[in-house]
Formats: sequence, structure tokens, C-alpha cells
Amino acid sequence: MRLPLFAGNWKMHGNVQESRDLANGIRRQLEDLEGREVVLCPPHPYLHTVQSALADSKIRMGAQNCAWEAKGAYTGEISPLMVKEAGCQYVILGHSERRHVIGESNEQINKKVRACFEHGLIPILCVGELLEERSMGDALAVVERQLVKGLENVEAGDASGMVLAYEPVWAIGTGKTATPYQAAEMHLFIRKFLRQRYGEAIANNIRILYGGSVKPDNIETLMLQENIDGALVGGASLQVHSFVQIAKVAL
Ligand code: PEP
Repeated sequence: MRLPLFAGNWKMHGNVQESRDLANGIRRQLEDLEGREVVLCPPHPYLHTVQSALADSKIRMGAQNCAWEAKGAYTGEISPLMVKEAGCQYVILGHSERRHVIGESNEQINKKVRACFEHGLIPILCVGELLEERSMGDALAVVERQLVKGLENVEAGDASGMVLAYEPVWAIGTGKTATPYQAAEMHLFIRKFLRQRYGEAIANNIRILYGGSVKPDNIETLMLQENIDGALVGGASLQVHSFVQIAKVAL
């Protein structure tokens, strides 16, 4: 049985006060929620603020990125040890904005995934195709390549605790959501990939989130799909009301 997970990716939004208010508001309404896990991923400078707001609650915190090295001359980077010390248990990696805006490669993402495991952090590895790739019928091949490369040298013992997120790039921040059929097809494809790679028991442990314009009015249909184990939420995670409604979806 996979515990459904709802993660809020705040991206580069907010300030100290807004981050505190958002975390407090979410905590107030979701603190006692049973049967699911909630993770907030604020910008790096607000990790401490959010950690204080979430102290002693079951709500967890994640970072939106980290470096693959633990320390050294990497100006501007933030190491896995730093995000861990700031109170994170999760790190979003390979988000489409990092792949396509910042230009991160599968190889770099793979190094970050392995660094997370090395330092006791759980990666939320994002995969997903561009609209052109889907139009050309390449969606499955693109995601397979991202999985093969992103998980290179990741052993079964580590993989068992990780989280994946299928986020079709054309659905992120656009208001377009994958149809339940498109999402279900890709999630099943990912599950089969994991089975082949790590065997049935481990593959069945790994949570696969859907991301891409998730809102209170579409989460229920998405969660009805067999291999959708939760959501990675961008825009709708910036309002207490909408994020709480998503995380409280009937399961
Ligand atoms: C995201 O940032 O991971 C995301 C899915 O964004 P949105 O929900 O705004 O599409």
C-alpha cells in the first residue's frame, strides 16, 4: 500500500511573511490528516521560516533543487547537506523548469539523485515530455530515456524509497491537464519500467505523482487512476485553500 503524497512546489514565489503564513495556514488545516503525506517545498531562503512553522507537525519539507557535491567551490549552489540541515527530507529534482529553462542534463540530474541518496534525502525525480515530443508520438520514449539516465547506478535498496513525478511539460502552469487516460497510460508505463528494473516488490513501493495544472476540481479524477499516488502541485499550492482542498481529496 503506497501512502498518497501531496507536495507543494512554491517555485520562486513569496517572501518571509507569505511563506510563514502559507505554512501556518496549511498546517492548521492538514495537521491531523491521516492516510496521506504532505510536503511543502519553499524557496531555499525560506526553508528555516517554513521549518519553524512546521515544527512538531507531520507535514514535511522539501527543497526545490540541490547540488550534487556535498561541499566545495560551487558558487551559488546549495549542497544536499545544507538542505538536510535546514530540515528537508525531500528534494525535487529534474523539474522541467530546471531541465528546459536552466538547461540541466539527465547526467547532472542523475548525479543529484545519487547525492540525495548518499546523504539520506528522498529525491522526487520529475520526468515528462514536451508538447512537440507528444505530438510526434515520442512521449513514452522521452520519459523512458529520462528514467534510464536519471536512475543510472541507483540500486534497488535506494530506489525503493524514492518518489517519481510525471509532469508533462505542456501541462505545467498552462491550465492544461493531461487527460486521465494520458496520465494513466504514462503512470502504468513508468510502473512497468520500475518492475523490470527493480522487481515487483520495490516497484510497487515507489510513489508516482502526477503534476501539471492540478487543481481542486481535477484532483479527484486523477486520483482514481490506478498508478497515480498523489500530486506535485505548483500554482495551486500557493493558496492555503486550494492546496488544502487538493490534499484532502477523497481517496
Ligand atoms: C510544478 O511546478 O511542478 C507544477 C506542476 O506546476 P502547476 O501545478 O502550476 O502546473
